[in-house]
Amino acid sequence: MSRQPTFKLHNTLTGALEPVRTLEPEHLRMYGCGPTVYSYAHIGNFRSFLTADLVLRTALALGWKTTYVTNITDVGHLTADDTIDPSGEDRMARALKSKEGERFVNVWDLARYYTQSFLKDWKRLNLLEPYARPRATEHVPEQIRAVEKLLALGVAYETSLGIYFSVPSFSQYGRLSGNAAASDLRSAVRDVIVDDQKRDPRDFALWKKDPGHLMQWHSPWGWGFPGWHIECSVMAQAYLGPEIDLHSGGEDLIFPHHECEIAQAESLTGKPFARHWVHTRFLQVEGQKMSKRLGNFLRVRDVIGSDPSLAKGLALRLALIAGQYRKPFNYTRATFSDALHHVRRFRDAYEMAAQARRRGPGGPDAIGDRLEPIYQRALGAMRHDLNTPAAIAAALSGTKVIMQAGRQMTQAAARAAMTFLNQIEALLGVVGPKPISGAPGHGLAPEADAMSTLASIIEPLIAARQKARMSRDFAKADALRDDILSHNVELQDTPQGTTWKPKVSP
Ligand SMILES: [Zn+2]
Repeated sequence: MSRQPTFKLHNTLTGALEPVRTLEPEHLRMYGCGPTVYSYAHIGNFRSFLTADLVLRTALALGWKTTYVTNITDVGHLTADDTIDPSGEDRMARALKSKEGERFVNVWDLARYYTQSFLKDWKRLNLLEPYARPRATEHVPEQIRAVEKLLALGVAYETSLGIYFSVPSFSQYGRLSGNAAASDLRSAVRDVIVDDQKRDPRDFALWKKDPGHLMQWHSPWGWGFPGWHIECSVMAQAYLGPEIDLHSGGEDLIFPHHECEIAQAESLTGKPFARHWVHTRFLQVEGQKMSKRLGNFLRVRDVIGSDPSLAKGLALRLALIAGQYRKPFNYTRATFSDALHHVRRFRDAYEMAAQARRRGPGGPDAIGDRLEPIYQRALGAMRHDLNTPAAIAAALSGTKVIMQAGRQMTQAAARAAMTFLNQIEALLGVVGPKPISGAPGHGLAPEADAMSTLASIIEPLIAARQKARMSRDFAKADALRDDILSHNVELQDTPQGTTWKPKVSP
């Protein structure tokens, strides 16, 4: 058996720091709970998505294969779901009736709008694209089948209002959250109206009968819609199989959402659902809990604007990962401005190295030997429960080495510098997805300018390669080719000459 490099993360299920153990060697299959698209996601939500993103990036840096699935909840998340009872109102439906909801034609339109806005923010914060991003409404038939199976297994039952999962049928219930005592669980539901036909107050809804609901599907129990908890179990298993390696989400999802996911999923398959559970602590803003009432409820656009520069998106990302995901984190305006300053340093260092690589003198590489252990320090920090403060400190100290070498660094040193910054980008995502720019200032040109700058780098190299080929200096031509490809572009040699385009990531 191959020994995979250890990657340790705190596991909520056991309460311990443990190596991530993948079912298949070096292939991480993970599921992360996505947003409920009834409004804009706030920066606290994104901190959780960033934790999943960093798990993914660290696994990739270790050379693992990853399959990451994260959903969009566009139905069934009830206003009272956080207190386990199904008697609340659907969040999507309520949002449509609100002041902001007035501009939408219907609830589907509302879901589409907030999904698009969420995906834009996802890109701005430089999160990696998942393998699949299923929407709950696209998987209702599978959810109905799962509910039917739970009924057939005798672990669910029907009342005139809905179908419920019977919590006493699952002896492990409470293992994740530690809410094992019946009194704890009852106190979690005390403030909501209880369906008095429920057999146990802890039982939760798998399907809500509601022929008047704005989003409804036909089921063996009439018109209605699925519960929020069943959606995630079903989609995780549909894309990743019955057993997954890692499941992530915000700390508010531990109970009841994830507790309920485990109960349903394990009852359906008889197999352990997820081995590793990773939860992100919520953030505070300027020392206070974020809330609409306090007016400190920050969406991504509130911090970086609705048409932000690349640097601002990266800076918000860096600010949100500046604290380790399990520690209480206080986001302040100063955190953001520090992050913006650091992002500019990364970009400046990259710019400097890119120029030195083209125009710098020949000679030995005086910095590669120093940068390599610094990168290993950053990776080591991430492998130890995503210690982002230590990883960021390493990234900054490597950047300092590059800045000290200055514009006069040799071409070999410049290559080492760019390798380092590309590695940091792959690991932390804070340098930028296309960290190439010749624009004045901080090299933070919008994408179109980045293209023309890329052209100004690539085209002279193509011409030089052409010249080398004409004079039959194939070793030089090959070296130039490697150089060109290292800019993440594709080359095509045609009878009319060589063309290039940026490589599209899969
Ligand atoms: Zn979920």
